[in-house]
Amino acid sequence: MTPNPSNGVKHFMEAISNYVNGEFLPIASRAMLDIVNPATGKVYARCVESNVEDLEHAISSSQASAKAWSQLKPEIRAEYLVNIANEIDQQAETLALAECIDNGKPLQLALKVDIPRASANLRFFAHAVTQFSSECHAMEDVALNYTLRSPVGTVACISPWNLPLYLFTWKIAPALATGNCVIAKPSEITPMTAFLLAKICQKVQLPKGVLNILQGTGANIGEMICEDPRIKTISFTGGSKTGLHIAQIAAKSLKKLSLELGGKNPALVFADCKLQETVEQLVNACFANQGQICLCPSRIYVHQSIYDEFKVLFIKTVKELVVGDPLDNTSSQGALSSANHLQKILDHIEIAKSEGAQLLCGGEQVGLTGRCEGGYFMQPTVLENLANQSRTNQEEIFGPVVTLQTFESDDDALMLANESDYGLSATLWTENISRAHNAARKIEAGIVWINCWLIRDLRTPFGGMKMSGLGREGGLEALRFFTESKNVCLKY
Ligand code: NAD
Repeated sequence: MTPNPSNGVKHFMEAISNYVNGEFLPIASRAMLDIVNPATGKVYARCVESNVEDLEHAISSSQASAKAWSQLKPEIRAEYLVNIANEIDQQAETLALAECIDNGKPLQLALKVDIPRASANLRFFAHAVTQFSSECHAMEDVALNYTLRSPVGTVACISPWNLPLYLFTWKIAPALATGNCVIAKPSEITPMTAFLLAKICQKVQLPKGVLNILQGTGANIGEMICEDPRIKTISFTGGSKTGLHIAQIAAKSLKKLSLELGGKNPALVFADCKLQETVEQLVNACFANQGQICLCPSRIYVHQSIYDEFKVLFIKTVKELVVGDPLDNTSSQGALSSANHLQKILDHIEIAKSEGAQLLCGGEQVGLTGRCEGGYFMQPTVLENLANQSRTNQEEIFGPVVTLQTFESDDDALMLANESDYGLSATLWTENISRAHNAARKIEAGIVWINCWLIRDLRTPFGGMKMSGLGREGGLEALRFFTESKNVCLKY
């Protein structure tokens, strides 16, 4: 069944409230934020701006529930997560439509990627926690050490707007699975699917107070959450500047921190790559979700011997991308997340021009007609002729904008790629396996893909180096992050 857009829009006209202690809090006479559909530019929902009383309520609820939740067998906690995952699967079309309306991403992308991944996150950590074991270190003839792990207590999960339910569940699933109670804050730009998830939690009777969802702006409720000394741990995904700021706040009460931050990801295209396949995959990687995935490549370095051929093919393929109504199955590019974000990207294009960029394609806002007349659409953009040290090549743009540069040797490529404050992901395109392994070892990035992009095994460590983050999530890393370890030493 294809979701009906008009029904969908009508359905989502409700007000988005906080979910605390298993209930939706009243919103009468509360400060509310307008929530805009980026594909139309129109307000389609309203969302509560949380205040200090909401935070108090959420903290006391989570503290009241902490003991019982942490003492449940992991298998029982896992069952709740699987029940939530099953409901997400059941409601996949509704959730995908909600994500599309809230965020501007193509409905097909939400159906294929965002929502299946949200349920996969819950399922994965439900199963993982039942297999979580601790270590034992035997000292011959002296003593035996074993490690105990316990939940941290009340933890905060703060997520961004680009993959709303996908990243929200990526954080709450390991936190809940390991027996913590969670105060979660989705982005104020895309609050809808977290709200719908709260309804699912109510439906599956997740114990009260175990997951509390506070809506509102980062500068207000986000900051209050990070300041509160009763919250022991923060898992944050968002911009590097925000991450730095949160790290400073968290330092005051020595909170445990996981920061998943921005990127400026290099793609290294070697002369021996399969050119056609590389171009097809790279165009998809650079412009997926309108380039608004932290892992999208945005700096493409091409060996000088194939640069001209690569450029022609790359530009041709980029020009085939269809910018259009995200509800339309033929649109490969939806809207950017907000008017501010569109403006920020257009400003970057002006900066690039002032730095001497040659515009190979795109660079302009796209005006659609009809339903999407007021939407925030932009042409996929490719630039060349920029110095590696230019602002355009150094600052995260987080939109459909990529730059092309040449390199002369493998060392040159690695030097250019590593000349960045960021270190999140990198892609390598070559048929030479030694070259690939050598570059993978030397490139400064937390995640390296060879001849592919965004293949994700949820057991693998996920995160960035340098200004791209602190710590790793995924698999055992996340289970360890959300638990306190204690070593017990017993003398023989
Ligand atoms: P952002 O930093 O503006 O906001 C992220 C979240 O933090 C939102 O929920 C926001 O309300 C909250 N927040 C903002 N200021 C806060 C404060 N002072 N205290 C507490 N919370 C605060 O980021 P964004 O614009 O929503 O997302 C885009 C950024 O996220 C990009 O830089 C992108 O690269 C990054 N990102 C990183 C990853 C990753 O896994 N490394 C994944 C997705 C997005």
